[in-house]
Order: sequence, then C-alpha cells, then structure tokens
Amino acid sequence: MRFRKLIKSFPFPVLIFLGSLYKVIPSRIRFGKIFWETYHFLQQSQWWSRERLEEYQLSRLDKLLRHAYDCVPYYRSLFDERGLKPSHIQNFEDLKSLPYLTKDMFRQNYSIIIEENTRTKGFPRVHTSGTTGKPLQFYENTWTAQMERAFIYHQWTRVGVTPHDPMIQMRGPVIQDNIPEYYLKTKTLRLSPRVDSLEIIRFYLEEMKRSGASYLHGYPSAIALFALTIKQHGLIVPIKIKAILFASETVYEWERRIVEEVFGCRVFSFYGMAEKVVLASECETSHDYHCLPQYGITEIDEKTNEIIGTSFLNYLNPFIRYRTTDVAYGLSDSLCQHCGRHEYPIFSGVEGRLEDFIVTTGGVPVSPAIITHPMKDLKAVKSTQLLQKSLDSIKVKIVPWDQHDPKTLDKEADIIRQGLKGILGVDMKVEIEITQSVQLSATGKFKWVVSDVHKGFPEAIK
Ligand SMILES: [Zn+2]
Repeated sequence: MRFRKLIKSFPFPVLIFLGSLYKVIPSRIRFGKIFWETYHFLQQSQWWSRERLEEYQLSRLDKLLRHAYDCVPYYRSLFDERGLKPSHIQNFEDLKSLPYLTKDMFRQNYSIIIEENTRTKGFPRVHTSGTTGKPLQFYENTWTAQMERAFIYHQWTRVGVTPHDPMIQMRGPVIQDNIPEYYLKTKTLRLSPRVDSLEIIRFYLEEMKRSGASYLHGYPSAIALFALTIKQHGLIVPIKIKAILFASETVYEWERRIVEEVFGCRVFSFYGMAEKVVLASECETSHDYHCLPQYGITEIDEKTNEIIGTSFLNYLNPFIRYRTTDVAYGLSDSLCQHCGRHEYPIFSGVEGRLEDFIVTTGGVPVSPAIITHPMKDLKAVKSTQLLQKSLDSIKVKIVPWDQHDPKTLDKEADIIRQGLKGILGVDMKVEIEITQSVQLSATGKFKWVVSDVHKGFPEAIK
C-alpha cells in the first residue's frame, strides 16, 4: 500500500517512463497465469457451436453447484429443503428447481452466502453502486479478478484492443484535484470522470496525447460530456483514437452519436455488473449485445424480460439465479446474423435501471430514454439531472456552461419544463434549479435520474 502511494506521488513523465520499463516484465507475470489461460480459451471458444458451448456450461454449472452444496451453507439449505442434490440438476430446465436470489435476499443472508471456513481477511471487498441506497458487498479473490479481466479484454479484441495496449480511462471515483493517475500494470492513464471546466478539458487533451494511448474507456456520461465540450468549443482531439469503450452505465443513443462524431471512431459497449453474473458484449458488426456463455448462464424472465444470471466467476460468494433488476429489450435467441457466433441470448439493449424511472402522477413509470428528448438540442445547458422525491413533483438540476447566454438559458429551462410536462403530464410540478454540480454516487458514478418514488419492477400501463 505504501509502495503504491509512493508510486502515485511520482510526476507523470516519470510514471510513463516507469511504465515503459514495466513493459519488459513478461506479460505472463504482469497479468497472471489465470488471465492468459482464460483469454486464450475465450479467443478460441467464441467460435464454438451452440452444442459445444452448452456442454461446457453444464460442466461448469455442475462444478459450481457441487461447490455451493459442499461449502456454502445458504445453498446447502436450499438443496436440502427441496430434497435435491447437485447431481439432480442435469440441464438448464433442472436449474429452475432452485429459487431465484434477489438483491434483498443476498443482503439478508450475506453471512451464509459465503464459502465456509474461508478467511476473507485480505480479499478485496466489492461494492455495487446500489440504486436503492443499500449497496451490496461481497468478496472476490485473485482468481475471479484475473478471469474477469480476461473476459473484458477478450470482448475488446472485437474492436482491435489487445492486453498490451495502453489505455485512457474516465471512470471510477471523482479525482478532486483533477490530477491524472497512472496505473503501471495496465498502462492506464486515469482522468476524472467529472470534469467541470474548459481548462481541465484542455489539460486532459494534452495528457492524452502524452500517454500514447489509442483507446478511451469509461462512463458513457463522462465521455459524452467530454466530447460535447470539445465540439462546442471547437477543440481539437490531438491523437487518433481507435475505439471508445463504454462501461457501467446504460448508453443513450445521443451519447453514442456525439462521441462517435467527435472522436471519429466506433463506440463499443458492454453490459455487466459488479456481481459478475452476466457479461453481454457488442458484436463488432452491429450494436447487438451477445451474452457470453463461458461467463455464466443467462436466463430472461418470460414476463418481464428481467436479466437473471448464474456466475461461473465467483466461488467465494456464489451468485446462482441472481435477479439483476435490469430489463433487456430486442431479445433474440438465434445465431447472430452478423458475426456467426453462437453466443446467447442476444439483445439490443438494457432499459434504465428500474429504480430510476420517473413516475407520473398517475403512477406510470417512464424510462429515462424517453425523458431525454426535451434535452437533446441545448446550447446553454451543460448537464442536467432529474430528482423525484414525491409523486407529483420533480426537480431538474441544470448546470449551465461557464459562458452561457442568460436569455438562452431561460428559454431552454422553459423548453425542458414544458417538454417534461408534455411527457409526464401537466399536473407534474417541475422545479428548475440552476446549479454548478450534480449528485454523484459514492463510487463517483453519475445517475441521470434519481427517483425516491419508484422501487421495483414497473406495473404494466393500464
Ligand atoms: Zn454478432
């Protein structure tokens, strides 16, 4: 820890130099044995037939269930209460005889959903951002971390990234003083996902040039804002970016468009979560998401399209039939028509997180994607955020650009107010707050819609 702090205190050019020295350490050591084994396995198995992939999944499921029964008290009870043994689960249909695991169930049973006799001291604790304000916490070991990294790099090979490429990152917690951080292991320059002045953007563009990286990875909201600023102020991106790698947030179409326009390259996105139960990666020839079968078993709720996953990556805190509360749309279970992979299921996208829907006074939840429409063509507004504390009112936080025209801002605030009333109903009170900052979660993640009213899955519109 002290060593890491010392390294971080070095000036940036020194870190770049150390990074070049670090490169000579064999990559097998840098990323670890498990990483490379998994990575090579994925590069090959992505072209396997559906039958072969399913056979592989069932063998991994068998191993996971035996482990869960032998070593994890929570799952042992589930089997015993039902008079089941892991050997009774022979196919995907049999798996349904085990109950779902919800986020609340995980929180309530946390102490027994952990491998017995494991000394967790020293293992990294993982936190989810927790849209309900009650984040999940669990443990992971090195094996899980290396496996996960291999999956992430494997999917990025679809847009040309290799594990040897340097990277620029705009994700993780906000960096208060905006000073870039540098990670030697992955040759990553980390910039703050919250940028609040033109001066910092100019500074970051220079740092990006010095990093020698060709890939930008981070929160769609952070990168889109960065791109928008670059465009509005006519700034030049001083390096050739080969691909933008979005992560951790639902991607809005306008974010994808502005980023592709400004950086002149493909945006590649994936769907995943801290619990690591499902990883769905975009195809290189379309924007469809393919669930990677080697990562776990993905089920889709027949009524609600909620994504449910069983992870092959975590034996310390097994997640079996875990309800993500995320909803897929544009589902397909057939072979990808573009690339020919047999990865499944395939979907077009994931709806905004369930808790983040705005509810109309009539009780109808409206997804964030719909609410973005009045905000699409604004000149004086830098960013917005919607907060709903009661059923009949919402607050819109508006962060204006530094040199905005006050009249334009007034006009646009009115466009937003009227636009929202048009979508949510005239009886919805829309309060506008002009501010300098938006709310960020504990992990520095931006959430566009924060609703205290809506919890759980939306009722069908009557
Ligand atoms: Zn495909």
